Amino acid sequence: MQAAISHIRAEEHSNILRVQSAALKAIHDYMYENRVVQAMPIILSPATDPLNHHHFDAKVEYYGQKLNLTKSMIIHKQLSLLNDGIDRIYFMSPNVRLEDAKLRDSGRHLFEFTQVDIEFKNKSKGDFFKFVDGMLAHTFKFVSKECAKELEALGRDLRMPKLPLRVYESEELMAEYGKDFEKTASEKAKDPFWITNFRREFYDREDKQRKGYFHNYDVFWPEGYGEALSGGEREWEHDEIVRKMRERKTDTKPFDTYLKVASQGLIPKTVGGGLGIERMVRFMTGRKHIREVTMFPRVPGEEIIF
Ligand code: AMP
Ligand code: MG
Repeated sequence: MQAAISHIRAEEHSNILRVQSAALKAIHDYMYENRVVQAMPIILSPATDPLNHHHFDAKVEYYGQKLNLTKSMIIHKQLSLLNDGIDRIYFMSPNVRLEDAKLRDSGRHLFEFTQVDIEFKNKSKGDFFKFVDGMLAHTFKFVSKECAKELEALGRDLRMPKLPLRVYESEELMAEYGKDFEKTASEKAKDPFWITNFRREFYDREDKQRKGYFHNYDVFWPEGYGEALSGGEREWEHDEIVRKMRERKTDTKPFDTYLKVASQGLIPKTVGGGLGIERMVRFMTGRKHIREVTMFPRVPGEEIIF
């Protein structure tokens, strides 16, 4: 208990939270100016993001219905855009992902964290890149103006990203740096950058003419801070969704109703992504481990005190 109290009382939290508050204000302002509407996050749902890496399920039962604690807003973002009057939406959403304890020292993983989860209708990945580039530039500018004193106290010199952020193909980096290309590219970079084309969840669009090519992407922080955002253009056709769920051995049962919506041709064509807030604050404040930017750390495999 003493260690948890000392952690809460650590002097640097006041500076870190000032930086986080400024960053959140900048993001909300940028959304508002770009007419992206905010919806409130959903915490319980029969269907949620299946995720493509090992983790434990977080489930509750309520009046006989099995509900998951949501791992992202992907399903709800797509469904929100069924509304004809809404074409740009975001959620500031807490996610519960009971990650494997082996990620304890990654410096990047919590088992509860927050994403700003964004989705646009009838737009392409190029449109989304431009939007996110603008959001990061606006946020960095605002934080460095508002939080000069705090950044100095934290010993952090925040560099303004040069736009447009560079876009790499995963194959190109793999050929250059080998299978640990994400890590190496992040360590070598001075500015955030995009990487496109990763094989992952069923909902990221695979090119029909070029099987094995995925219209998805990540943003990476430089200086070795690693992944910042993941997203993609999405699948909307029922048969493609089912094929990809089968290939990934995803249990289709929780997605029965979602698949019915898809079979009626109602899933809109969308593009989007989610940016981890704590990871962004860790980068902005130059902290070594993500635990340092939260007063109540949820580090994989560690006991929760408060
Ligand atoms: P994903 O779509 O699964 O990549 O999640 C979107 C973003 O959320 C990632 O790019 C990270 O910035 C952040 N994120 C994902 N998992 C975690 C985690 N366990 N702890 C902290 N941030 C995370
Ligand atoms: Mg990711």
